[in-house]
Order: sequence, then C-alpha cells, then structure tokens
Amino acid sequence: MTFADLPNARPPRRVAIVGAGFSGAVTAIQLLRHAPPEGLQVVLINESGRMARGLAYGTHSNAHVLNVPAGNMSALADDAEDFVRYCRWSDPRIEPGSFVSRRLYGAYLEALLSAAELQNDGQTTLERIVGRVIGLHTEGPGGRAELLLEQGSSLLADRVVLAFGHFTPIDPLPAAAVAEAGARYIRDPWRPGALHGIQPADDVLLVGAGLTAVDVALALSSGPRGGRLLSISRRGLAPQSHRKSGAAPGTLDASALAAEMGHTVRQQCRVLRQHVQQALARGEDWRDVIGALRPHTAALWQRLSPADRARFLRHPRAHWEVLRHRCAPSAHDAYQRLVDTDALNVMAARVASVQAVADGLQLQLRPRGAQAVRELKVQHIVNCTGPSADLQRCPSPLVRGLLQAGRLCPDPLGLGLVVDEQYAVLDRAGRPSALLSYIGPLLKARDWEATAVPELRLHARRLALQLLGRQ
Ligand SMILES: Cc1cc2nc3c(=O)[nH]c(=O)nc-3n(C[C@H](O)[C@H](O)[C@H](O)COP(=O)(O)OP(=O)(O)OC[C@H]3O[C@@H](n4cnc5c(N)ncnc54)[C@H](O)[C@@H]3O)c2cc1C
Repeated sequence: MTFADLPNARPPRRVAIVGAGFSGAVTAIQLLRHAPPEGLQVVLINESGRMARGLAYGTHSNAHVLNVPAGNMSALADDAEDFVRYCRWSDPRIEPGSFVSRRLYGAYLEALLSAAELQNDGQTTLERIVGRVIGLHTEGPGGRAELLLEQGSSLLADRVVLAFGHFTPIDPLPAAAVAEAGARYIRDPWRPGALHGIQPADDVLLVGAGLTAVDVALALSSGPRGGRLLSISRRGLAPQSHRKSGAAPGTLDASALAAEMGHTVRQQCRVLRQHVQQALARGEDWRDVIGALRPHTAALWQRLSPADRARFLRHPRAHWEVLRHRCAPSAHDAYQRLVDTDALNVMAARVASVQAVADGLQLQLRPRGAQAVRELKVQHIVNCTGPSADLQRCPSPLVRGLLQAGRLCPDPLGLGLVVDEQYAVLDRAGRPSALLSYIGPLLKARDWEATAVPELRLHARRLALQLLGRQ
C-alpha cells in the first residue's frame, strides 16, 4: 500500500527530503515544477551547505570530468537538451558529445534548483535546512513523520524521501592491516582533504582499479610527481574509455537483443558475447552493444533468480562494470599516459600483509593465481573500491535506527534496500511504507543499474509525480 491507496488520500502538504545530492535535489526540482495549485512545502535537508552537489559533483578539481557525455546529462527526464543549453551559456563550443567537468555539473544542479524555487507563485515553497537527520519516527502527531536533527530540533512531514546517497567505502583490508597502517591508510578518498597528506615523492598503493582509482591517480598526478602508483584489483582489469565523439552509432536492435538474452546469467553472457562479436565483425563499436542495453538492464536483472543474481555478482560483474562504466576519453588518455610512462602500474593482486615501518608501510602482495608474495614499500594506501551499498554496515545513525526499528529491509545481496515499484520502502515484514520513499544508488537492489544520471533523473521524475498523486 502507498500513500495514494489510503482512503481519502490527499496530496501531501509537506514533503521532507533527506539528502541533497543529485537524487534529493532533482526530486525537489520535480516536485516544485509539478506542485499542485493549492501549493506544496518542500523541505530539503543536507548535512553540508553544498546543496545539489553530493558526493560526485562537489569536487573542486577540473581534472574530474563527467564520465557521461554532456548530451546525456540533462537532470530533467523531460528535457534532454537542458544541460547542453546550460553549458553553452559559458562555452558555445560545447557539443552533446563533450565531456565537461563534474564541478560545472554541480553548478548546473544548483542553478536548476534555484530556478525551480523562483518559478513558483508563493504557494509552493522550498526550505533548505543544513543539518544531519539522525532519527525518524513514522508515527508522529497526526500520522505524520517526525524527523530529528542532530542540532536538537525536529520537523514534521506528510511524506519523507530518503535520498541519503552513498555510504562510506568498506575496508578492502582485514581490520588488523587497517590498524597497522594507521593514518597512512585513506579509507575514503572523497572526504574533503583526504589526499592532502600525500607528498609528490610518496609511493602509493591504490586498492581498486575502476573509476575511483582513475580519479585518485589523476588527482595525485595533477602536479609534478616523483612517487609511483600501483593500482591493484582482483582481476587487474584496466578501465575503458568512451569512444571519441563523431563515430557512427551501431545498428543493433536492442529490444530483440534483450528478448534473446533470456533468464539466466549464463545465457545473458553468451548472447551478449555473440552480439559483441557480430558488431565487431560489422566494423561497429562494442560500446554500442553495451550502451543499447541501458534501457533494458533493469528488466534483465529482474528476470534473474536470486541464485543467478548472486552468480552474476561473483563472476561477470567485474567485467560488466569495466565495460559499462567507462571514463571520458580525456581522462582515459591522461590515465594511459601514466601507465605508459611507468608512473602507474596496474596488476591483479591482493594485499596479504601490512607492516608499519619507519618511513612507510611494508606490504606483501599476492598476485592473482600465484603462491609467492611480492614485497613492496609504499607511504600510503588509498581505498579506491568505491562507495558501499551495504545497509548493514552503514554507520549513519538514521539508517541504523530505521533498521533496528524494522522500517527498512536490506537487500539480501548487500546491494541496497528493498523498495516497491512506487519507491515506497518495504519494512522488515515486506510491507510498503505509506510515509517513506527512497531514491538513489541503492535502487540497484531492484534495478541493478541505478547509479548514473540517465537512470536517476527518470526515477526522480516518477517519484515526484507519484508523491503528488499524478502517476
Ligand atoms: C565520484 C563519482 C563520480 C560520478 N560521476 C558520474 C558521471 O559523470 N555521470 C553520471 O551519470 N553519474 C556519475 N556518478 C553517479 C551519480 O551521479 C551519483 O551516484 C549520484 O550523484 C547519486 O546522488 P545521490 O544524491 O543519490 O547521493 P549523494 O551524492 O551521495 O548525495 C547524498 C547527500 O545526502 C546527504 N546525507 C546523507 N545522509 C544524510 C542525513 N542523515 N542527513 C542529512 N543529509 C544526509 C549527504 O551529505 C549527501 O550530500 C558518479 C558518482 C561518483 C561517486
């Protein structure tokens, strides 16, 4: 049951959104754009004052570019050109195929939020609260939800959207190794100032070899640098680039491909491999086959049995992530230059042991498939495994409180939380909440691909319309 199913349900007067990264900010924008004539109060609560930036778009570094071309980065599901139009105000040379900075994208989201706030007639309002929500009661006065803020105040809302985003990365090393490394281990490279203690001459181990490792390698190499970088992952797969703009698109019939892919991981992988080979034989780009599947990914994931989903996570996932989540060509070129000049090495290995020594960390690495270990000394280890989606290991008091009260249902595979088709969160007994909705990367429990703007903007619009009883 959702709010709309309640007897005599009326559209909410006040919607509180917890978190103002992309998901929370764009849900607020859509609520403001579609507010009913009788008005709506939207309350956007974020831990920091950097509204609409979130983890991805709060960076100050121009070396951090979007990994999706500008033409596919509109925040508005119903206006595909919006972001390119915004970019062209400052630089008319920007094309739909351009890869611009994440910093510019954050400025765009801020501007869009302000525009949506200013466009209404006064009946509809946006309140921005800088603060951390630490608790939530679903049985507040008048059947409303009550949100408790860290500073001691509270507020009531008819509906609450949980948009708390990514969780701190999980340690890829055993607890003893983390303790031994002490301050030389950087758990979360996105924490402001996290990399500041790394000197140009320092050798650094990056644990992880995906897009976070690319970002960290480029950030560390943005000035003169003598130290070397080693990036390790279980399989040592190298990041892939988007194709350069201007290439002709592929000719694949994606709906036919998705239908042919069937209901098991084995069949899906086999059919996908065949179609990639056929595309290559036609002189087309493999990226078009992967890209064409984008609108079908959620349905393909939902067709898999729980056992097959677990199988996917154990085996093909690493390959899928590399093929699907690619870097901008300029970032990939810069990364490749580091590899070509031996400033960065990539290998398939894991950390076997860590020992603190006078001027760094003495490591033993075990290369994949080898018995013998390799000795290596570095000054720092950076966790580049990316944000976590595991609710059970999330330190947030809000999430822990909701879990303890049985208000959330963690995905059994640790991919996020369970929601229904209308984004209502399910409780421990599997009942949809009439008050709480969720939007953000943890939707991957339901849809698998839910972390990027092209998916999240659709969810934000659908959720806003659904909250307003218009869908
Ligand atoms: C480094 C990086 C680069 C990316 N680049 C791209 C890209 O180029 N293109 C693309 O399409 N996608 C990209 N993505 C993916 C995508 O855009 C993000 O996943 C998306 O921004 C998710 O936004 P979010 O609002 O759900 O989460 P977040 O960005 O994590 O925002 C959540 C917000 O909620 C706040 N918050 C959390 N808990 C509370 C609380 N209890 N009280 C108050 N506030 C709280 C946090 O402080 C934060 O501001 C990238 C992701 C990352 C991590």
